[in-house]
Amino acid sequence: MRAFWLEQALSGDGGLAPALQGEQVADVCIVGGGFTGLWTAIALKQQHSALDIAVLERDLCGAGASGRNGGCLLTWCAKFLTLQRLFGEAEAVRLVRASQEAVDHIGRFVREHGIDAEFRRDGTLYTATTRAQVGTMEPVMRALQAHGLCSYHNVPPDEVVQRAGSARHLAGVYSPVAATVHPGKLVRGLRRVALQMGVRIYERSPMQQLRHGPPAVVQTPWGSIRAGKVVLALNAWMAEALPAFERSIAIVSSDMVITERCPELLHATGLRDGIAVLDSRIFVYYYRSTPDGRLMLGKGGNTFARGGRITPVFDQRSPCEAELEQALHGFFPSLRGVPLTASWNGPSDRSVSGLPFFGRLPGAPHICYGLGYSGNGVGPSHMGGRILASLVLERDDAWSRSPLVQGPVGWFPPEPIRYAGSLLVRNAIRRKERAEEQDRQPWWIDRMLSSFASAAGKSDKQ
Ligand SMILES: Cc1cc2nc3c(=O)[nH]c(=O)nc-3n(C[C@H](O)[C@H](O)[C@H](O)COP(=O)(O)OP(=O)(O)OC[C@H]3O[C@@H](n4cnc5c(N)ncnc54)[C@H](O)[C@@H]3O)c2cc1C
Repeated sequence: MRAFWLEQALSGDGGLAPALQGEQVADVCIVGGGFTGLWTAIALKQQHSALDIAVLERDLCGAGASGRNGGCLLTWCAKFLTLQRLFGEAEAVRLVRASQEAVDHIGRFVREHGIDAEFRRDGTLYTATTRAQVGTMEPVMRALQAHGLCSYHNVPPDEVVQRAGSARHLAGVYSPVAATVHPGKLVRGLRRVALQMGVRIYERSPMQQLRHGPPAVVQTPWGSIRAGKVVLALNAWMAEALPAFERSIAIVSSDMVITERCPELLHATGLRDGIAVLDSRIFVYYYRSTPDGRLMLGKGGNTFARGGRITPVFDQRSPCEAELEQALHGFFPSLRGVPLTASWNGPSDRSVSGLPFFGRLPGAPHICYGLGYSGNGVGPSHMGGRILASLVLERDDAWSRSPLVQGPVGWFPPEPIRYAGSLLVRNAIRRKERAEEQDRQPWWIDRMLSSFASAAGKSDKQ
C-alpha cells in the first residue's frame, strides 16, 4: 500500500527509476532509498563530485518510513540528558547543536533546490494532556539552560490551548527550533536532486545477497553491483537483511490518520500554522495541520514485529484507525463530521538508547550502516547522511569520531522474550496512561514496567 504522502508526491515526479540489470560497478553502493540513503548520496556528491554512486531501493524511494512519517522535523533537545549520560557533556552539546542546525540545513536545501516540501518552520509545542505529564520537560530544560542550548520556554495554559487548537492541553513548552514538512515530497525531492547530481538510482531492486569482499558485491534479482564501499541505509529492514542486527532494534509501528480538507474548521480551532504538537506520553500523540487544510494525527507503539520480520500488517490501513479517530475527535470535537481521507502505518526502528547508531561491519570496514532513529529521524537522518559520508570518505572529523559511530549501545533480549516483553510493557503503559487520564494513581507494577520504555530518556515520537 502506498502511504498517502507518497501517493501525493508521486503524482508530481518523474515516476519509476529503472531496476538494476546485469553486472555493474560503482565506487559506492547505497542500499535503501529513504532519507538516510539519499542524504548520504547527496553529502558524498557535495564533497566528492567525481564519485560514482548507485542507490538500490527495494520498492520506490520513499516507500519506507521516509515517505510515511508525520513530517515533524524535531531536534535532539529532548534527548539531551540521554546523550549526556551515554556520550558525555561535550558530545551531547555538539549533537544537540547539530540537530538544531539540521532544521535550518534542510530548510535551506529545499529552498535552494526548489523542492516544494511544504517546509514550515513554525516550531513545536510539547504539551501535557494529563496532570501527571505536567512538568516532565523541566529537568531537560534546566540542563539545556545550563549549557546555553535551551530554545524552549513555558507557555501560559490559555496560549497553549490557543496555539495547539485544542482544550485538551493543560500546559506546554514551546520551541521555535522545529519545522514540519511533507515527507513524501521531501524524499522524492531528494531523489530528484541526487539524480541531477549524477547519482544512479535503481528502484524495484532489492538487495538479496551481500558478499563482503572487498570489493563488496550486492546482488539483486536481475543484477549485481560490485563496489569498493557499501552503505546499508535499511532502517527497520536491517534486521531482516543482516540477522546480526536483529537484537539491536525493536520494530514497532507508528500509525497515522489524516482528514479531508477542512481549512475553515481548523482555522476556527486556532491551529493556524505548521506547528508540531506532541503530548508527553511515552507513546506520544502528535499532530499538525497541512498547508491544504487537513489535520494529521499519529501515535507510535501499537504493533510490534516478532523476530525482526516486517509482516504485511506494517503496510496497510492502520489497525488502530478507530482509536486514532477517537483521539482526533478528543482533541478536536469540532472535526467530528470531517471524514478521514486515509490511515496507514509503518515500521520504526527503536534502539535500546532511543538514538540512532552507525558503524562499520566487523571484519568488513568498507561496509557502513546507520539505523535506529527510534521514531525521530526526519531531521536526524540529515546528520546520518553526514556521518555515513564521513565514514565512506574515511575522514577524520567530528562525525567519524562521534560515539554515535560505535555501533549499537545495547541489545534487546532474544525472542520470544523480546516480543512478549514488548507487549507486556506496551500494555502496562496503556493502563498507566489510561489511569492518568482519569486522574487515578496507576498501579505500581504498571509504573515499574513503563519505566523500561522511558529508561532511555524521553522518546520524541514513539
Ligand atoms: C508512521 C511513521 C511516522 C513517523 N513520524 C515521524 C515524525 O513525525 N518525525 C520524525 O522525525 N520521524 C518520524 N518517523 C521516523 C522517520 O520516518 C524515520 O526515522 C526515517 O524516515 C528513517 O529514514 P531511513 O532512510 O533511515 O529509513 P527508510 O525511509 O525506511 O528507508 C529504508 C529504505 O530501505 C528500503 N529497503 C528495505 N529493504 C531493502 C533491500 N533489501 N534492498 C534495498 N532496499 C531496501 C526500504 O524500502 C526503504 O525505502 C516516523 C516513522 C513512521 C513509520
